[in-house]
Amino acid sequence: MSQEKINFNAGPAALPLQVLEQSAAAVLNYNNTGISILELPHRGAEFLAILEESKALVKELCNIGDDYEVLWLQGGGRLQFAMIPMNFLGKGDTAGYIDSGHWAAEAMEYAAYYGHVDVMGSSRATNYDHLPEWPTHIPDNLKYLHITTNNTIFGTQYQHIPRVNVPLVADMSSDIFGCERDYNQFDMFYAAAQKNLGTPGVALVVIRKSMLTHLLHSLPPMLSYKAQAKENSILNTANVSGIYVSLLMLRWIKHQGIKNIIAANERKARMLYDAIDNSSLFTTHVKNTADRSNMNVCFTAKDKATELAFLQLCAENNIVGLQGHRMTGGFRVSIYNAIEESAVIQLVELMKKFETNG
Ligand SMILES: *Cc1c(COP(=O)(O)O)cnc(C)c1O
Repeated sequence: MSQEKINFNAGPAALPLQVLEQSAAAVLNYNNTGISILELPHRGAEFLAILEESKALVKELCNIGDDYEVLWLQGGGRLQFAMIPMNFLGKGDTAGYIDSGHWAAEAMEYAAYYGHVDVMGSSRATNYDHLPEWPTHIPDNLKYLHITTNNTIFGTQYQHIPRVNVPLVADMSSDIFGCERDYNQFDMFYAAAQKNLGTPGVALVVIRKSMLTHLLHSLPPMLSYKAQAKENSILNTANVSGIYVSLLMLRWIKHQGIKNIIAANERKARMLYDAIDNSSLFTTHVKNTADRSNMNVCFTAKDKATELAFLQLCAENNIVGLQGHRMTGGFRVSIYNAIEESAVIQLVELMKKFETNG
């Protein structure tokens, strides 16, 4: 995190100071090559080393084996919304989607261009203030079930994901490496990097290799997982600097230790939810404590004047990025892996001060 301001933005989100410093140094001179990371050839030995180390670190941190393919693709999260049905859903086929938030719904809309969508639960009617009930029966003929592990806009998150009888595909854009997961239970998972894993325009895509055997459509190579895997994610000019920042994040996560990050995330979230629950001015969007996200904490003030006054107080104290999404209003405090506990402590102290001063 930069030292000037505490940045609670949802994405692009704060990066650890160490990653910013290493990125800055690489912009001037990458690893003593005498050229900038912004100029580094995507087919040269240096970038190949970046790719190999990043793929190996993803496997190590996820505790997955060589039966998975790790890809770094462009187009962010949304292109994955399209590529998943393009690659896995034929005309006349059906895929299951759990409609747990805005991004989940958008993924579902993209799938409808290619095949049938079976909505296996939705909390849309109450503005996604809880997680939909997990489906009791999942038809065997579904090509896959798509879920969103953390709902970035509404602040809900699956803590536990049951095993399913069809391929499981998960959008982990806003909580990858941030909570306990058995990554082996997923046949595919992906994450737009700008939340927990780097900068915009990069998507981490991890696919079980066996999924690549039953691709249906004949697709232009850029849109085909199989072609991207075959070309080692450098089918075209890769986002060299973006992938490098993700590698720096992966190294940072490994250095912190995933267990320590998860424990810190739980402490940060508890601190903030406690402050909100004990306040007479603020209320959380998500009432069911089991559904609450430890990544995005969404809450509202008792009225608009209180909301604006608190935002103003935060700004005066160099705390930025906590306006809620336009679909929820109020506040959203994104406390991803890179956010230090001291930042949350400062916010909570400010909330208490605001409460006593009226
Ligand atoms: C941010 C986000 C996306 C969208 O990512 P883009 O890179 O902007 O397309 C998708 N899914 C989730 C869960 C997100 O938080």
